[in-house]
This record gives sequence, structure tokens and C-alpha cells, in this order.
Amino acid sequence: MKNMNMKHLIKSLTALVLISVLITPALAYNINYDEQNGWYTDQVNISFDNSSFNNSSWKTAFLTSANTWAAQSSNLNFYTTTAQNISGVNVYYGPVSANSVATEKTFIFNATVNPHYFGYIGRSNVVFNSSCNFTTNQSQANSTCSPSLRLYDVQTIATHELGHSVGLSHSNIATAVMRGTPLPTIFRTLQSDDKNGVKFIYNSWQPPSGSKSVTDYKKGDGLDINVAGSPIGYNEKELIEYSDLIIKGKVIGQTSPKWNTKDGSEPETEELLGPYSIIYYDVVVEVDKTYKGELPKDVDNRIYIRNIGGTIGNITVTSDENKFEKGQEVFLHLKKNSDTITSNYGPQGYYVIGGDYNLDTNVINLGNDVISKMETAT
Ligand SMILES: [Zn+2]
Repeated sequence: MKNMNMKHLIKSLTALVLISVLITPALAYNINYDEQNGWYTDQVNISFDNSSFNNSSWKTAFLTSANTWAAQSSNLNFYTTTAQNISGVNVYYGPVSANSVATEKTFIFNATVNPHYFGYIGRSNVVFNSSCNFTTNQSQANSTCSPSLRLYDVQTIATHELGHSVGLSHSNIATAVMRGTPLPTIFRTLQSDDKNGVKFIYNSWQPPSGSKSVTDYKKGDGLDINVAGSPIGYNEKELIEYSDLIIKGKVIGQTSPKWNTKDGSEPETEELLGPYSIIYYDVVVEVDKTYKGELPKDVDNRIYIRNIGGTIGNITVTSDENKFEKGQEVFLHLKKNSDTITSNYGPQGYYVIGGDYNLDTNVINLGNDVISKMETAT
């Protein structure tokens, strides 16, 4: 414990120095948790899911991305293994919730598992969205044409997701690989902000004592699970075309968090550590006006925006999704939630694909200019 506190102190001091150096701009990379110590081992295995992520050129692209991160610190090294469901990085091609090209889930030991491991990353699951199209050919990649024709560059998306895997969350620097806004079509090279972030976590890294892995997790133990992704970007015309609902309204509350299991209870351990178990809640919006689409029937003029996150028992899930506040007025482009992860539960859920809001700061503002355009059009 003493060692950990000292390390925390050093990190805090380093952060203070960085903050004072970077007065303009004051914001930079972010780490997932203040207490985060990086991976629990300096030899992180990567496992490609046999049944879904089995394209050899995609695997090569993924490993190339991993090595750009590993090159930043001798305390971070990636290896491959054919073992499945490991205490390392597990890579899948499958359903993804909400509006992301790919998502990443970081499993972090919290104090109720074992204080020796507090703040260390024990597992990471990366899922490439099987509703999106991918390529490893730079000249064919295209993320600016219409959504159904887009071909995302595997290495670009992998580089961003692996940034989450090593412990970074979205950066406030708009030119960073770890930006929270949609990525350029080809963006395979780490920027100085990304490099600073990974070096901050790993250059002072020390291993925890012992060799516990997250697969030793037992029901009732504590875990922090951080979920983040690469958002799909739409232009103004596409936003209207791809929205199932466009509404103006007011946030009136939110439902309590639930696991996405039939009865809402904690999934079995194997499921829990897998890519598709999640805690979610609904933000409830009372609708003033509908600009496109029809509200679901029998919902009293309300819509339910499905968000990832919440605490149940000793498990806390956090995500980088939009934060809403009670009483907030919102103008939102919404898509019906039809992914297989949270769509089978509760009332019809929606997720936000746009609006006049800022993904970087998660602040949603009433989009007066967009609204006036919609008012003119209707
Ligand atoms: Zn992300």
C-alpha cells in the first residue's frame, strides 16, 4: 500500500508540473482513472477471437498499431497468443452499442478485488462494429462517403482503440489520435499528445506484487469497467437522413442502472468478462416537438435514450457517452437502438447520433441554428 501511495503521489506531482507547463492549452490527454497504474504486467498478450476476428491482414494491421504504442515505453510490450478469453487484449468483430465504429472496454481492478492490484488494468476487449465495413488498403479506405459505403481503415481504428486499452480516455486535443470526435480516414501515427499520455502512465510503471489475472475474478469482487469508442461522424444532411427521430425536448430524469441480462441481475463471470455484458440506463426526455419520425406509442410523449454506465454492487461501468442533466433542454438526432446488446430490454431505446452538442466536453446545447433550419423546412 505504501508503495502504491508513493506512486500516486509522484503521479499527482507530475500532473501538477504538466498542468502548470501546459497553461495554454490547459487541457491534454486524459487517463481513465486518477488511480490508474497501467497494465498489471509488462507483457500484455493479444488474443484474436477465433470465431469472429480471423482475417490475417486485419490481425497484422492490429499488431502494427499495438507496436506504435509499445514503442513509447519499455514497460509496455505486446505479444500474441492463440489462447482465448485472456487477461490481455481480446479482439472481436461483432455488435457494438450506440454510434461507434468500434468500442473498447477496459477492466480495472478496484480495491475490493485485492489492494495490491488497485488501479491496474486486467483485461481489455476491443470490438470492431460488424455493421461497419473495414479495409486494410489505405487507398480504398473512405470514411467520408455515405455511411453504408464507408470503408474504415482497420489500423486507424485499432490505433485509437488500443489507446483506450493502454489506459487513455479521450483527449481534449482535437488533433490527437485519442480525440473524442470522428477520426480522419487514415490516422495511423501517434501525435505528441498521445505519446505524452502513454509515457505518463508507463514511464514510472512498477509491477504489482503477485501475478493475479482478471480471469481469477469471482462473483461479488469489484471491478471498474470503462467503455469508450470511435464515434461515427455524419454531416448535416446525413444526420437528417439517418435519424429515426429528430426532437426537441427536456430531460426529466433517468432510470436506475441495470445489467443487460433477462432479469437484470449480474451475469455469470465468463459473460461478465466478455465483450457484450454491460450496465445501462435510460435518460428520459419529454418531447416538445418532433421534426422527423413518430414517437413510439404508449410512452406519454417520452423517449428513452439508452446510455452505457452505472454502478451495481461492486462493479462500476463508466463510458464516454453524452452526459445529460435533469431539466436540460435538448435538440437531438436519434436512431432506434437495434444492436443486440441492449435493445431487448425495457421500452424502445434510442441513441444520439447528433445534435448541436460538443462531443469533447459532453455538453449538449440547444442547437438554435439547426432548429431554425428545421423550423423553416417543416
Ligand atoms: Zn474512443
